Amino acid sequence: SRLSISDPIRTNDIMRKYKLRAKKSLGQNFLTNEKVLDDIVDASGLQSDEIAIEIGPGIGALTEKLAQVAEQVYAFEIDETLIPILEDTLSYYDNIEVFNEDILKVDLDEFVKEHSLEGKTIKVVANLPYYITTPIMLNLINSDYPFQSLVLMMQKEVAERVTADPGHREYGSLTIAVQTKMTARIDRIVSAKSFIPRPKVDSAVAVLDRIPSDKYDIEDPEYFHKLIRSSFAHKRKNLMNNLLNWQGRTDENRSKIKIVFDKCNIAENARGEQVSIEQFKQLSVELKKVM
Ligand code: SAM
Repeated sequence: SRLSISDPIRTNDIMRKYKLRAKKSLGQNFLTNEKVLDDIVDASGLQSDEIAIEIGPGIGALTEKLAQVAEQVYAFEIDETLIPILEDTLSYYDNIEVFNEDILKVDLDEFVKEHSLEGKTIKVVANLPYYITTPIMLNLINSDYPFQSLVLMMQKEVAERVTADPGHREYGSLTIAVQTKMTARIDRIVSAKSFIPRPKVDSAVAVLDRIPSDKYDIEDPEYFHKLIRSSFAHKRKNLMNNLLNWQGRTDENRSKIKIVFDKCNIAENARGEQVSIEQFKQLSVELKKVM
């Protein structure tokens, strides 16, 4: 039987055959730990009637695993030199389509329509290129199409921010941007040794599942996001001082904000990290009324 693409022997063979050198600038670190790949696929819970979207298939290690469980796999790879390699390594599968595109330029809502996928359960599963983890993740979360779940390998440090609870150092604007739309947990930590070449940092598999769209039903998302950005703009300042920086440091503003804090059950000297999403939601409504 054939070795999996992720087997280090096979990965090295493929790289040698195609004289392939991983491009650092594109975040190319190929997974060569089959257990990690199986854990990623398990975490996705992909079923045979579901669609998988993969970002950055590389030489196909994760792609082939997805094809073994999903109805159909669509993969977006920016590096054109990998396209003929993927045609070779994935030739055995007839339920994979690879597109030579920059995922940040793909309109996924359009893509879903063009491929008549409305109504399908679509899950995004990817070992992300780390240099663009945040924009990719935020695009997926804020797309019109409600991707059911995202199983994303990313830097451990980013995964910790994404999954943080209030009261923790890692809790901040990224946490809130993600957790207003998705539940977030870390499925597992992945050592740098699981990749060829090894990245500089350890990684983690984050699992984000869509929450009902009315859970945090934010009235004015633009104002809410402005509030969140301002609340965490200066890490060392408390919430009051960050808000005064945003609204103007006057006595009048200070007392208005103090009254709003009381309404929202937020202590005057609270730090942004201590404020729950529910409280930020209320804060944005009350603040908008008086400021
Ligand atoms: N999926 C493979 C694996 O697990 O071994 C490779 C993962 S590697 C960390 C990231 C992949 O994303 C690389 O193949 C890289 O070329 C690709 N990539 C980088 N930037 C991209 C972009 N903007 N759009 C699509 N793919 C991109």
